[in-house]
Order: sequence, then structure tokens, then C-alpha cells
Amino acid sequence: TIQGEICKMAGLIQTQPTSSTAIQTLERIGAHSHIRGLGLDEHLQPKSGPAQGLIGQKQARRAAGIVVEMVKSSKIAGRAILMAGPPSSGKTAIGMAMSQTLGPDVPFVMLSSSEVFSLEMSKTEALTQAFRKAIGVRIKEEAEVLEGEVVEIIVDRSLTGATKTGKLTLKTTDMETIYDLGSKMIDSLSKEKITAGDVVSIDKSSGRISKIGRSYTRARDYDAGGAETKFVACPEGELQHRRSITHTVTLHEIDVINSRTQGFLALFAGDTGEIKPELRQQIDGKVEEWKEEGKAEVIPGVLFIDEVHMLDIECFSFLNRALESEMAPLVIMASNRGITRIRGTRFRSPHGIPIDLLDRALIVSTKKYESQDIEEILKLRAQEEDVAVSSEALSVLTRIGSETSLRYAINLITTSHLACRRRKGDQVEVGDVKRVYGLFLDEQRSVTYLSEHSKEFMS
Ligand code: ATP
Repeated sequence: TIQGEICKMAGLIQTQPTSSTAIQTLERIGAHSHIRGLGLDEHLQPKSGPAQGLIGQKQARRAAGIVVEMVKSSKIAGRAILMAGPPSSGKTAIGMAMSQTLGPDVPFVMLSSSEVFSLEMSKTEALTQAFRKAIGVRIKEEAEVLEGEVVEIIVDRSLTGATKTGKLTLKTTDMETIYDLGSKMIDSLSKEKITAGDVVSIDKSSGRISKIGRSYTRARDYDAGGAETKFVACPEGELQHRRSITHTVTLHEIDVINSRTQGFLALFAGDTGEIKPELRQQIDGKVEEWKEEGKAEVIPGVLFIDEVHMLDIECFSFLNRALESEMAPLVIMASNRGITRIRGTRFRSPHGIPIDLLDRALIVSTKKYESQDIEEILKLRAQEEDVAVSSEALSVLTRIGSETSLRYAINLITTSHLACRRRKGDQVEVGDVKRVYGLFLDEQRSVTYLSEHSKEFMS
């Protein structure tokens, strides 16, 4: 059944996000790793100073907070948000903060508009996949779980690579159970740092192992050395056979898992190809059934479309239609363009977006930062990257940020830290910043260089 398949996958999905798109997303999100939320108080007013990683841009944050409230009370259907503002003014940062405010298992999908124009699939398929990645299905079910205290974990380390095996001995109230471990279960054991004495639950269908407590009285760990490692403890566990569990998968994951031609491996390879519309219909029907039976809940996430002016008229009409759907995610479009041509037409419009789509968008604008905000943001980023920066170097970085772009100045933190480490310094000084400023051009200097040396480049 679909449900069984999804359950099996749910455990794997968490431990193996290795597709190229997943990596791309991780990298892009890395720049925003300091952001934890919108930093608003209970009246949806931005707190002063750094709050949940955000600084300044108060009006946009206030607006974003209201949008989040609308999403939570399902009042946003059929609408989209447009974040409009100059480059590096926090559009993506605020978009991410909105998804974090929505909740931990609410999907956030970042799509750069140029990704839609790929040779592997049509534009509408790429957009459909992005939409369905942004819709979560929270599945609640009674599952067969084994719960007990870990007595012993034996991992055969002699088998390197993907084929690790092992055994887990669980002590339950009246017996000891030996569980054969697959490679992925071993990974999840080490990821969750499970050792002897921990109380764990094993979801029998997905194989997912989670730590639920620690209750041993006398435990003794030892390394037997060589091929295997043993942990031994004195157990006091409990056995439970059925427990209600919840996990969230996205509609796209359900599509791929059930697409006979692709199979679930496509999820990990990121190579999903086109998915038949009939299959999607069938899945939507199934999800609808689960919803009615109280087994599942649909959670619309956030689809963030960056550089939205790069989309063309066909994509825009797709968006217009898709927004009407009952299961649409919150679509946040971002653009740093003014009035420009709508791709695929000869008409110009604000942000290159057709008027009918603009008309249904709530527009949130972000403003260029003052140098004080830039300094605060740079300080936060330096902290996040664990880089000590002298106050002089910070003012130089701030000046660079105001004159070029905030993103460029943020990038200089990482590079000047490397320069600092090379000279074995313990904090970034003005000299380090100067050095990398000379090595890496910002946009303005790059443009000047190109126009001065235009003859040496191919045109
Ligand atoms: P673009 O139009 O070029 O895509 P953008 O408006 O989406 O830019 P971001 O990518 O959000 O800009 O911001 C650039 C960097 O500055 C990111 O690392 C972001 O996390 C950080 N940043 C921007 N605004 C804030 C803020 N108000 N508080 C904290 N960090 C911020």
C-alpha cells in the first residue's frame, strides 16, 4: 500500500538527503544559518536588537508576521507574497524566518527561477514538483514499535562502506530481544548517539530508531577492540507493542516513491524525471481519504521563488492556476528588479511579473540597510562562523558592506578568516580584510575591470 511504502521511506528520507538538489539547498541555506525566526513579540512587533538572528527591516518583519498568522489560520489560499527590495536586503532571510515560524516540520522549498529551465523536464513539471515538495503530509498512525533499553550494540566494523551490519540487544520487561541492524540503522544509532543504557523505540516498518530516554542504574561501556565494539549495561526497560507515531513526508516524496518507473531510489539520486499526472491525481485522492479518516493532515509549506523575473509568461500562468488549488503552499516570490520585460512577451511590468499575478500578491518591501544594521548583521555572521574580528576590521567590513553589498562583506568574513589563519593570527585584523578585498572583486570592481579589458574577453 502507499501508506506502507511511505512509512518505510520516512526513516530513510531523514538519513539520506544526498541528492544534488539537496546539497544545493543546504549550501544556499548555510548563508542564513543564523536565522531562527522573525524575532517578533506576542503583538507581532519586531523586538529590538538582534532577535532570533534578525536585525532591523522592521516593517517587512511585521508584515511577514501577519502573513504567517494568516497561513496558520488558513486565510492565505490563492494568494502569493512578493518580497521586493534591493539585493542583499534580507528577502530570502525573512522568507526563511517565516517558514521557521510556521513550525519545524513545515516544508520550505527554495527555487531559483533559472532552475525551471532545465533540459530534463518541462517548465511546468519542474514547477509542479516544487509545489509538491512544499506540501507536507503529516501522517498519524499506530505503528508496531519495539521499545526497550539497549543492552548491547555490536557493530561489525570490519565491513567498511555501505554494508555495515550489526546486532542490537534490547532488554524489555521480561525478555531480551536481538535485533539485526542494517547499515542505515547503524547510521541512525550513531547520529542519535545511542549507547547502552538508553531507552529506544524501533519503528518496525521504517526501521527508524529513536532515543526516548535513559534509565539505567549501572552501565559499563567497553571497547572490545578489533572488529567489534561492545557496550554493556544493566537494563530496566519496558516493552510496548503499539504506539501512535507521526511523521511528515511531502507530496513529492509520495509521488516519487509510488512512481513505478522511478522507484524510491530516484529520491536519493535527485533524478526523478517527469511524473505522470494520473499518478498525482491518484495520490491526491488517497491523501484526501486519509484526511477524512483522520490519518493524515495536509500542511502547506512555503515555496520561495527567487529571481522571479527570470520566469516566463508560461510559468506565470501556471503559477496563477496552481495558486487556486486547494493544496497550494504559500508562494513567496522575490525580486530585486524594477520595471522590466515579462519574459516571453514584449510587455514591461513591475518586477517583470504580469499584472494579474501581481494583483493577487501581497507585496512586502525590504529597504536598503543603514550602516549600523550592516555592522550588526556582520557581527552576527562572524559569531555564527566562529570568527573573531577586531573592532577596526569590523568597521572596515561595514564600510565595504555599505559601499558594495552586504553579501559581499559577509563573504569577506570567511575569506579574511582564512587569511588570518594562514598568518596564525587569532582574530581577523584590517590587514586580513585588505588582503582578501584585493584578491576578490565585488560586482562594481568586476564590471569596471571588464569594461577596461573588454578587448581581451570573448563577447
Ligand atoms: P538578493 O536580492 O540578492 O537575492 P536578498 O534580499 O534575498 O538578496 P539575503 O540573501 O536574504 O538577501 O541577505 C544576504 C545575507 O544577509 C544573508 O546571509 C542573510 O542571512 C543576511 N541578512 C540579510 N538581512 C538580514 C537581517 N535583517 N538580519 C540578519 N541577517 C540578515
